[in-house]
Amino acid sequence: MVNRTQVAIIGGGPAGLLLSHLLALGGIDSAVLERQSRAHVLRRIRAGVLEAGTVQLLRDVGLGGRMDREGHVHDGVAIAWEGKPRFLIDTRKHTGKPMMAYGQTAITEDLYAARDAAAAASSMKRKMFSRTTPRRIARSSLSKRTGRASGSSATISRAATASTG
Ligand SMILES: Cc1cc2nc3c(=O)[nH]c(=O)nc-3n(C[C@H](O)[C@H](O)[C@H](O)COP(=O)(O)OP(=O)(O)OC[C@H]3O[C@@H](n4cnc5c(N)ncnc54)[C@H](O)[C@@H]3O)c2cc1C
Repeated sequence: MVNRTQVAIIGGGPAGLLLSHLLALGGIDSAVLERQSRAHVLRRIRAGVLEAGTVQLLRDVGLGGRMDREGHVHDGVAIAWEGKPRFLIDTRKHTGKPMMAYGQTAITEDLYAARDAAAAASSMKRKMFSRTTPRRIARSSLSKRTGRASGSSATISRAATASTG
């Protein structure tokens, strides 16, 4: 079976997944290839703090719901060291903007969920389309594998545009 896409994205971290989401909003189909398993990527603990620009971007593209419910708004970062008084880097005071404590793991979950929903909607749409034009659907049908592919990257997300806009 041959799968076709407009853009192949290597890496299903937050950057690749968000890019796939943004492309879909812009009407561009993409496939995200990730060499690790989904379980590995979702278990990975990394960033915990988002700057204001990222927070606004996530809201603007429809990915801010859980972040706004579960995230914690902070004015800055406090450094504590060897019993000395806490030293606050007051980013709200200096930049006029707060920060958001919301784990990268949670963002990755949100992005996976959004890509899964888009892929499911796209798959459904193509199935309906195939009833009238079977030849075309056969050439552009979707696949979605979530496990680790032996020796190669697994397609973790496939989104056709019309389903997400
Ligand atoms: C301990 C830690 C704490 C951090 N804290 C913060 C913080 O508080 N605030 C902040 O803003 N940032 C923080 N960061 C940085 C943040 O985690 C990274 O900036 C972010 O992960 C980058 O996202 P990315 O999608 O570009 O890359 P990644 O998250 O690294 O994703 C890249 C993906 O590509 C995959 N990949 C690579 N090569 C291939 C290939 N050839 N084929 C298929 N797949 C491939 C990898 O498996 C990976 O899943 C922290 C990072 C670490 C490690």
